[in-house]
Amino acid sequence: MMPTVETNSELAPNSRVAVVGAGITGLSAAYYLHRQRPDLQITILEVSSRAGGILQTVQRDGFLIERGPDMFVTRESEALALCEELGFAEQLIQTNPNNRGAYLVHRGKLHKMPAGWTMMTPTNLWAIARTPLLSWKGKLRVLWELFARKRKDTSDESLASFTRRRLGYEAFDNIIQPLIGGIYTADPEKLSMNATLKSFADMEREGQGLIRGGIKLLKSRKGDSTSSGARYSMFVTPKDGMQSLADKIVDALPDGTIEHGVKVSGITESDNGLEITIDGETTSRQFDKVVLTTSSQITAKILEAGFAEISQRIGQIPLAGASVLSMGYARKDVEHPLDAFGVVCPIQEERPLIAISISSEKFAGRAPEDHVLFRVFIGGALQPELLDLNDEELIESTRQQLKELLGVQGDPLFTEIARWTNSMPQYHVGHVELVEEIESLLESVENLEIAGNAYRGVGIPVCIREGKLAAARLINATTKDTQSIRNSAKGQSRLQT
Ligand SMILES: Cc1cc2nc3c(=O)[nH]c(=O)nc-3n(C[C@H](O)[C@H](O)[C@H](O)COP(=O)(O)OP(=O)(O)OC[C@H]3O[C@@H](n4cnc5c(N)ncnc54)[C@H](O)[C@@H]3O)c2cc1C
Repeated sequence: MMPTVETNSELAPNSRVAVVGAGITGLSAAYYLHRQRPDLQITILEVSSRAGGILQTVQRDGFLIERGPDMFVTRESEALALCEELGFAEQLIQTNPNNRGAYLVHRGKLHKMPAGWTMMTPTNLWAIARTPLLSWKGKLRVLWELFARKRKDTSDESLASFTRRRLGYEAFDNIIQPLIGGIYTADPEKLSMNATLKSFADMEREGQGLIRGGIKLLKSRKGDSTSSGARYSMFVTPKDGMQSLADKIVDALPDGTIEHGVKVSGITESDNGLEITIDGETTSRQFDKVVLTTSSQITAKILEAGFAEISQRIGQIPLAGASVLSMGYARKDVEHPLDAFGVVCPIQEERPLIAISISSEKFAGRAPEDHVLFRVFIGGALQPELLDLNDEELIESTRQQLKELLGVQGDPLFTEIARWTNSMPQYHVGHVELVEEIESLLESVENLEIAGNAYRGVGIPVCIREGKLAAARLINATTKDTQSIRNSAKGQSRLQT
C-alpha cells in the first residue's frame, strides 16, 4: 500500500522533472512521481542502453544468471510493497527451504557456520562450544560476552573494534570479518557500526549484549512468524530474475520516459529551475526539478560546478568494486554435497575470494537439472588489486578455488564475468553524521533531490524507499509516514550478497 498522501503540492501542473539514472532508485522515484502526479513531464536520463542499473539478468544455456543482486530481503517492506502494487508479487519465489546456511573457510577447510549464529549474534551456546572455527580460548572469549561491560562512549565505532571488544579477536577474524565484511565488501576496520549494523550496537547500548539480545530477537521473530503465518521467506527473488522487476517498473511508466545514451555531466541553478549539461550536447536542458540517483562519486562530479559544498561532502563517500564470476558446471563434476547456500572466506586465509554463492541451491530455476551455478565474488575493499586481473587470470584463479574448496573438476561450461568497478559505497565510521550534513545542505536547495545507495543503505528495499521518499519530497507532498520511513531507514542493516 502507498502511504497516504496529502497533496499539499506546490509543484505546478505539467512541471518538467528529470531523474538522473535508471537503476532501481531512479526507476522507483519516477514510478512514485508518476503515481502521485501523472500530469508531470518526467524524463529519466540514463547513460547506458538499458534500464535497471546494477540489476542485470542473463539467460544462457538454460541457466539464469544474475550479474548483480540476486535477491532482496522481505523484512524491509518497500520492495514487496512495490511488487504488490505492480501486480508482480506472484512472480516472487522463496529461497529453497533446504540447505540454508553457509560454510566458512578455516585453515583451508570448510566448516558450517555454528547453528544459531545470525550476523553478529551467537545464540546457541552448545553450537559455539562445538564449532571447530574457534579454539577453546576463542570460545570462552565469545561466552564472556555475557558479562562484558558496555562501552561508555556512544560515538560511532568500526565493525572490527566493536566485534573485538564484544566477542574477541578470534571470532572477529574467523567468523565476523568474512561474514559481514564480505556482505559489505568492506574494510571492517573502517565500516561504521551506526550506519550498517546499528541494531547490534544498540543491543550493547541497551545493556543486553549480543548473545542475550540475539536470543531475545530470535524468540520474538519465532513468535512473529507463527502468528502471522510468514508469507515470504527472509529473502525472495523474481522467478525470471532481478531484471524482470526493473522491466516491470519501466512498463508502468509512460512510453518514452527513459532517454538512453544520455550522460549527465553537470547541474547548475538557473532562473527557471535547474540546468542540466549533457556530454556531447551543445545546449543545456532546463528542468523544474531534478532527482539525482547516480553513485556517490558520479553525483559529486555532476554537482561540482553548481553545488560545490554538497559535492564535496558526497565525494567523501568512497566506493569499492568487485568482480562476480558466474560459472556453470555439470553436477557430476562437483564432489561436494552442496548442502548450503554458499561459502565465505576470511581475509586471513589469503585466498583470491570473498565468497561463493551456490545460486542453484538458493533458488529454483537457476540451472538446468543435474547442473550447478556458482557465483564467485572477488575483490572488495580488502583485495582491490584483484580487480585488475584480466578475464583469463580471473577464471583460472577462481577455477582453482572451486577445485580446492568444493572439489569442482574440469572447466566450467561457461563463465559470465561482471566487473562492478566503483559500484559499492563504503559506509565508513562517521557516515551517519556525513549524511545528516548532506541532508541539511540540501534543505536550502529547493529543486534538487538526491537518492540512491550511497546514503542510508544499499539493499534494494532501501533504494526503492529512497526513490519513493525523493518523489514525495520533490512534489512537496507530505506523506503521513514519510518521517517514520526516514527514521526507520537510518542505520538499518544493509545485508546483501
Ligand atoms: C555485485 C552486487 C551484488 C549485490 N547484491 C545485492 C543483493 O543480492 N540484494 C540487494 O538488495 N542488493 C544487492 N546489491 C546492492 C544493490 O544492487 C544496489 O545498491 C542497487 O541496485 C543500487 O541501485 P541504484 O539505482 O541506486 O544505482 P545503480 O543501479 O548504480 O543505478 C545508477 C544508474 O545511473 C546511471 N548513470 C551513471 N552515471 C550516469 C550519468 N552521468 N548520466 C546518466 N546516467 C548515469 C547508471 O548507468 C545506472 O543505470 C548488490 C550490488 C552489487 C554491485
